[in-house]
Amino acid sequence: MCGFDHNLKTKLIPAAKGLRELFFPRRCVVCGKFLGMDERDLCGACLEELPLTYQWDIVQNAAFERLARRFDVEDAAALFFFGAESDYRKILYGIKYGGRKRLGRQMGALLGTCLAKSRAFSGCQAVVPVPLHPLRRWKRGYNQAEEIAKGIAQAMGLPLETHLLRRSRYTKTQTKLSGAAKTRNVQGAFRTDPRRAAALHADGIHHLLLVDDVLTTGSTLAACATSLLASSFRLSCTTLAFVA
Ligand SMILES: [Zn+2]
Repeated sequence: MCGFDHNLKTKLIPAAKGLRELFFPRRCVVCGKFLGMDERDLCGACLEELPLTYQWDIVQNAAFERLARRFDVEDAAALFFFGAESDYRKILYGIKYGGRKRLGRQMGALLGTCLAKSRAFSGCQAVVPVPLHPLRRWKRGYNQAEEIAKGIAQAMGLPLETHLLRRSRYTKTQTKLSGAAKTRNVQGAFRTDPRRAAALHADGIHHLLLVDDVLTTGSTLAACATSLLASSFRLSCTTLAFVA
C-alpha cells in the first residue's frame, strides 16, 4: 500500500508542477524566456553569462578600494557587475521592488559559495544585513539585504545577525541622489545596539560581514561602518552588485 502511495506521489508531483507551468508559466527574470522545470528565477544561459567580478579572489579590488577610502574595511567583494544598460539589473529590481525574496536568497547563496572559497573572507564570524527602517520594511514586507544575507550565511555556515544594527532614522531612497547627497542622507542613520554588541563580543564574535544589495558610492555601508567600528567590530563587506 505504502509503495503504491509513494509511486502515485512521485507521479503526481511532476504532473502538478507541469500543470502549474501550463497555467502560470514562469519566465527568466533577466531575459524573459520561459523557464524549464529545473530552473529557478534565472535560466541556465543567463546564470552562465552572469558578469562575475571575481573580486573575492583579488585582495586590492575595486570594491575594496572604493570602501577603504571611506572607512577601515578588511576585505570587500561583490558578485556581479551592474550596468545601467545590462538586463542583469533586473535581478536587483526583482529582489528590491518585485517581491522576489527567493531570488535574493538564491543569489546570496551563490555569493556566499564564492566567499566561502576565498581566504580573504575566512575570518568573518557573523553576517549582518544593512537594515531597513521599520516603516519601509513594513511597506515592502521584507528587507532585501536580509534575504541576500540569509543565502550568504547558509552557504558560509555563519550565523545571521539581525538585532545588532538598526536604522534609527527614516531616509529618502538613495537611488536618485548624487554622491554627496547620498552621504548626507544616510549619515548617522544607523545605531548599534550596545547590549547586543557586548553579547557578541562575549561570544567571541568580533569580525562581521556586512551585506547590502548594491555597492554604488559606498555611503550606506560607510554609515553602517561608522557605528559598528565605534563598537569595536572588524568589518568586511559584500554586495550582490557592483556599479563600476
Ligand atoms: Zn535568461
